[in-house]
Order: sequence, then C-alpha cells, then structure tokens
Amino acid sequence: MKIEEVQSTTKAQRVAVHTHVKGLGLKENGEAMGVGAGLVGQEKAREAAGVVVDLIKAKKMAGRALLLAGAPGTGKTALALGVSQELGPKVPFCPMVGSEVYSSEVKKTEILMEHFRRAIGLRIKENKEVYEGEVTELTPEETENPLGGYGRTVSHVVIGLKTTRGLKQLRLDPSIYEALQKEGVAVGDVVYVEANSGAVKRVGRSDAYATEFDLEAEEYVPLPKGEVHKKKEIVQDVTLHDLDVANARPQGGQDVLSMMGQLMKPKKTEITEKLRTEINKVVNRYIDQGVAELVPGVLFVDEVHMLDIECFTYLNRALESSLSPIVIFATNRGVCTIRGTDVLAPHGVPVDLLDRMLIIRTMPYSIPEMEMIVSIRAEAESIEVEPEALTALGKIGAETSLRYAVQMLTPGRILAETSGRKKINIGDVEEVDGLFHDAKASAQLLADDAEGYLH
Ligand code: ATP
Repeated sequence: MKIEEVQSTTKAQRVAVHTHVKGLGLKENGEAMGVGAGLVGQEKAREAAGVVVDLIKAKKMAGRALLLAGAPGTGKTALALGVSQELGPKVPFCPMVGSEVYSSEVKKTEILMEHFRRAIGLRIKENKEVYEGEVTELTPEETENPLGGYGRTVSHVVIGLKTTRGLKQLRLDPSIYEALQKEGVAVGDVVYVEANSGAVKRVGRSDAYATEFDLEAEEYVPLPKGEVHKKKEIVQDVTLHDLDVANARPQGGQDVLSMMGQLMKPKKTEITEKLRTEINKVVNRYIDQGVAELVPGVLFVDEVHMLDIECFTYLNRALESSLSPIVIFATNRGVCTIRGTDVLAPHGVPVDLLDRMLIIRTMPYSIPEMEMIVSIRAEAESIEVEPEALTALGKIGAETSLRYAVQMLTPGRILAETSGRKKINIGDVEEVDGLFHDAKASAQLLADDAEGYLH
C-alpha cells in the first residue's frame, strides 16, 4: 500500500494569487527589507507581524488573535500568508471570507469549525517497514537456506544485504527482485526495500552507506510482502479536516490514512461532532505517545464584520481550545454594527473578542510599490511586461485598486500573444483597461446613467 499525502485542494485557488509570498521578508533584527520574501513595502505591518510570529513561536498567542485593519488591496491576505510561512514549512494556511458562513444547508458554526480544522495540521510520523542494506554477492554456502534449497528458486530469490550487523540474507519475493533489477541495482549498492509495497529505492553506493542502519532482521528472512524488517520514519502532513473527511468516508477505498483508518473503522458518511470528538481523542493520544505532532496553522478570516454574534460567541470559545490554529482576522470597516445585534462596535467585532486581538494596520501603497508588486506578480506568472507598460499598470493600480492592476496581467498577455508578441506593451494595457471596467468606474457609470437600468 502506498501512503499518499492528503491535500486540501478546494482552497488552493484563493491562495494561488499570492504564491509569490514566501514569508515576511524581515532581517535578523526584525526590520523589514524594502522588498523581501515576495513582499513589498508595508514595512510597519510586516515588522509587527514578525513580532506576532515570535509570540506564536514562544507559545504566547494562545487564546488570542490578530486583526489586520486596512483598506481593500493593502495586502492583508498576503501578510497573513507571510505569517503562516514564517511559522515553518507545511504549516497550513486556510483563507475564508466572513460571509462564507451563511449557507442554507450548513450551520454557521459548523462552517467555522470546518475551517478551524483545515487550519490545524498534524505531522504524523509513521514507522515504515523496509529492508535496508548493501547488496552483496553470496557464495553458494551463504545462499543455502534453512527453509530449503538455494537462493534462486521459482518462488523466491535470495540476495545478500550487508548491514551494520553483518551479512543478512534476504529471501525476496520474485517481484521485489525484479524491481531491484529494474532499478539497476548492482552489487555494492545500498538499497532499501519497502516491506509492504516492495518498492525499491537505491540510496547510493557502498561508500555512502549510512551506518545508522541497524537491521534487526533475522539471519534468514522470509519475505512475503507485508513483514517487518527495518523501521524507517515516514512523515505525513495532514490537517484535522483531512482526517475528518478520510474517516467519514464509507468503508472501502479509504486507504488514505493508514493509521487513522485502522483505529476508526467508521461506517459514517458524514462528519459529525461525534466523529470529530473521536478523532480528537486519537489525535491527542498520538500526540501524547509522540507519534504525531500538532502543527497549528493560520486561519485567515477576511471581512470579519460579516460574521454575526453567534459566530463571535463560537470564536471566543474556539480560540480557547487546545486544538486551535492561529486566527488572523481582517477588516476594512471602522465602527459598524455587530451583525445580529444593533450594537455599534469597532470593526463590527464585539469588545470581548476585540480584547483578545492584536491589531495591525495596513497602509495604501505608493505608485512605485504598486509597480513593484505587479512586476513580482508578472514574474510569478511568467508574464513579460515592458517597463512602460509596468509604469502604466502601477498608475492604474493607484487610481483603481492593486487587485485590478494585477488582474490585468493575464488578459494583457493574451492580447500581446494575439499580436504575436511575448511582452505586454503599453498598447495592451490601454486596450485591456478600455475593455474592462474597474469596480469604481463601473458603479459610476451605472449611477450616471441610472435611467437606462432596471430599478
Ligand atoms: P486585502 O486582503 O487587503 O484586500 P490582498 O492581499 O488580498 O489584500 P490584493 O488586493 O488581492 O491583496 O492584492 C493583489 C495582489 O497583490 C495579490 O497577488 C497579493 O498577493 C499582492 N500583494 C498585496 N500586497 C502585497 C505586498 N505588500 N507585497 C507583495 N505583493 C502584495
């Protein structure tokens, strides 16, 4: 059986426009570089976010959250992603928008809970069984096998594997032997053979032979598939949501997560609270046993003012849980009513939740910063832009929004290609700008020409 990494793909698209962001781009002393890790400008916010990363690493953020407050298109999402990347490799990042909680089928708190679990990672260390050692030639005496016969019979093949414990003779299933040959494994090679799948991996030549191999194998090892010979640590990164989904699946075809699958053989097809409670139990046990490690990721909730009082109550509680990700909220509102009440509050967030938040402001970009961002984005999408066109895009960004300017890149490229050019030129930018309307211009047009539209 092959172990595959389970990946949540549904959220991938929302992250796709930010792939150029690789961190916060801070120096050793915490100062922001002008351009660093894909991020441009916004120095104060980046430095403050760096402090938050330190707090998280020092485990001083439990029960607290971060709020990014600033105009649309000031890089709040980009910043939140940067935080998650500073926390380490394979730290989950789950973005959502406040209004996503409203659905006619699913409870608001259920949607929040799901997103919470998408943002909590679990690094499972599994001991995989492999044969590991150096392939040797065997003398006829050595190939003599207490189980009868010499090495190469129809049903099995014996090869020598020199390990730190001396020479081991492995009786291989012929398919494994074939796999070894297919890999071009020769005498002197160091290999490991996965006990379960029979997959063969060549590690290197003898001189690269790692001495930590400590093969506990018997002198003669019968090797039907699926036996224990040498343990090797395999690391899998999953989210709690992946576990929920894998275990909620009806039986059959649920070999996604061997460990979890074994423990819970559910017949359920739905993720219920009971299922989650059971999964939490198993997860906590694994953590206690040192088999798994919790990797709290980042849940990014944009437009936090769209959440209502019920959600806020839930969040207050959820932040206290030991299984909680880092929650980063974002808002572009000042004082407004808390949804579901007629109470006014800063950012539309109840004061008791606001009390838990560290607030970072994001500022509008300058034109050169916009240009730089557009250029970084173009590079990430392998789109070539002439300097003049880039200047125009920066200007358009300042007049409309950064997002609009960045989104012009793809149609710009299509126009350039249609004209048989590789690089976007100023003409393409002008043409795209003439074809599409940014939000403000579109709204203005409707207002000016109100008579002509339905009311
Ligand atoms: P907000 O959440 O504040 O609306 P955002 O991060 O979603 O902002 P967009 O308006 O979507 O920003 O920005 C458009 C593009 O510019 C995205 O690809 C985003 O990653 C990128 N971007 C925004 N700010 C920066 C920055 N400071 N450095 C580099 N890229 C940035």
